[in-house]
Amino acid sequence: MSTTIPFNKPFMTGRELWYIAQAHTNGHLSGDGQFTKKCHAWLEQRTGTKRALLTHSCTAALEMAALLAEVQAGDEVIMPSYTFVSTANAFVMRGAIPVFVDIRPDTLNIDESKIEAAITPRTKVILPVHYAGVACEMDTIMDIASRHKLIVIEDAAQGIMSTYKGRALGTIGHMGAYSFHETKNIVSGEGGALLVNDAAFAERAEIIREKGTNRSQFFRGQVDKYTWVDVGSSYLPGEVIAAFLWAQMEEADAITRRRLDLWDRYHAALAPLEAAGKLRRPVLPDGCVHNAHMYYILLDSLEQRGKVIDNMKRQGVSTVFHYVPLHSAPAGLRLSRAHGSMRHTDELSARLLRLPLWVGLEDSLARVVTALNEAL
Ligand SMILES: *Cc1c(COP(=O)(O)O)cnc(C)c1O
Repeated sequence: MSTTIPFNKPFMTGRELWYIAQAHTNGHLSGDGQFTKKCHAWLEQRTGTKRALLTHSCTAALEMAALLAEVQAGDEVIMPSYTFVSTANAFVMRGAIPVFVDIRPDTLNIDESKIEAAITPRTKVILPVHYAGVACEMDTIMDIASRHKLIVIEDAAQGIMSTYKGRALGTIGHMGAYSFHETKNIVSGEGGALLVNDAAFAERAEIIREKGTNRSQFFRGQVDKYTWVDVGSSYLPGEVIAAFLWAQMEEADAITRRRLDLWDRYHAALAPLEAAGKLRRPVLPDGCVHNAHMYYILLDSLEQRGKVIDNMKRQGVSTVFHYVPLHSAPAGLRLSRAHGSMRHTDELSARLLRLPLWVGLEDSLARVVTALNEAL
């Protein structure tokens, strides 16, 4: 049998090591050097955000957002349960309570029509997660937030290079968070960025990221002392990570094009299976331009999914599923609550299966499709 097709394989552009060598030669290895500045400028120019700040991870960016939003113990944060743990944990660390609402059955994004009923006097933040790089219904969410004076923080971990009505994901709420984890589209191993869209948070964001000091202002010559001015932590990555990331950002358009091509090929190849009622393909609402972060399918049941995974594995194709809904996870039961029925979250999370999607899959995509047809 031919070699197993992995579920993910991080793409290297070829210039990563060259830029890391340059960072080394520059002799500046801590954060906010030349490569970090290039990445910041690229993010600001490409997304239109007021201030982009590289972080160690999307998790770190969400933790910064929680601090900037001044989330306090007992405050409530409305989010989907169908998401990665960091969406909740960044706020639980501040003593806040995640309040989950169900997802839409079409996009698997938070159901915007169920948000308003979950708002209480303790609600502080709405946290939409753009699943698979396909936008949440942001116009409705921003309208609810402005009427109730809530802060919107977008978990756009999967959303770089995607847009909603022409605007980059992560730039529509007050703040947004990207991930450059090796499983995402643009990678640096571990890595992330906070997008500060509301200028009111920009200065404090720099301070919180630099251990609660005014170091950034000091280096710009805006203050004459470098000192402790606020709470904070160390959220900035070193230059080696930024150098790696810069090589990826330079190729972001090409990477996205190649991923979209693979996504489109899956979508066309699986149309007959959908027509035959054997699976459901992803749905892209009008106004959403996606980044082909993920190709998933929805099968009939949990039992069938298990059989399909095993069958495809025997044929040398790795497939995976996620997430265990947070409201039913051990920590979720202790630290959060669900508002209303979690019917779609429970049902769809049991039926979802992700197919391999990575730059370089071009030659093996047909084998994945054949294996899936066999398995079904
Ligand atoms: C990947 C991911 C995260 C976490 O990103 P890290 O960079 O690994 O911290 C958070 N939320 C969602 C929706 C993700 O997909």
